[in-house]
Amino acid sequence: MTPCTVIAIDGPAGSGKSSTSRALASRLGLRYLDTGAMYRAMAWGMLQRGVDLADPSAISERSGEPRVHVSTSPVGQVVTCDGVDVTDAIRGEAVTAAVSSVSAVPTVRARLVELQRGAVLAAVAEGAGIVVEGRDIGTVVLPDARLKVFLTADEAERARRRALEEAQRAGVPDAEQAADKAATAVRARLAARDAVDSGRAASPLRPADDAVVVDATSLSLDEVVDRMVQLATERGSDE
Ligand code: C5P
Repeated sequence: MTPCTVIAIDGPAGSGKSSTSRALASRLGLRYLDTGAMYRAMAWGMLQRGVDLADPSAISERSGEPRVHVSTSPVGQVVTCDGVDVTDAIRGEAVTAAVSSVSAVPTVRARLVELQRGAVLAAVAEGAGIVVEGRDIGTVVLPDARLKVFLTADEAERARRRALEEAQRAGVPDAEQAADKAATAVRARLAARDAVDSGRAASPLRPADDAVVVDATSLSLDEVVDRMVQLATERGSDE
């Protein structure tokens, strides 16, 4: 059977959503949309404007201003805000600490959800299909997606993977050792972000009722992608 071509993947921070979603999109020849990158770019735009992040109404008032764009290629993602390439900057500490306050504001969400649905329509019109990754894709952005996956892993494992990823990105010589040292602090940061993302009133992080929950704690990236390809094939074509 032909696999389905609009796939929603949600889950907490560090569950491996991005690597998995990109690999899945490449395997199935689909576009890939990282909605977290859009919220991060929006947070970058708010920081640039000096908006008080403790004041949701200040964020809301300026939410129409930042011009956010994320490419939908599964390789070499480029993120811009106000015409500036922020692909690397949005992964830094300042944006990571700010993003959950910005993403909790309903006007920010309404604006980005519209852009996200536009990207999905464009991919479908192109005949390509798309894997969309985030926190509210199955529940809010694409409630009719044929396949919804909620990808999770236990908190210690998510922290370990995220710490390793950060050490590797920073080019630290012994990344494994640096990651071990950083794991406790990274775990506290992940837990804090998850608590805000799950506890907010607007589109909280939660599995859709019809999502398949995949626990990646003891699975490799390839095993998770294999499982998703299998699920997409079982669901069948969207046509
Ligand atoms: O996926 P990533 O960790 O890059 O997402 C950054 C933040 O963006 C999340 O912690 C969350 O606050 C927000 N987000 C969201 N809804 C999405 C995707 C991300 O609220 N669909």
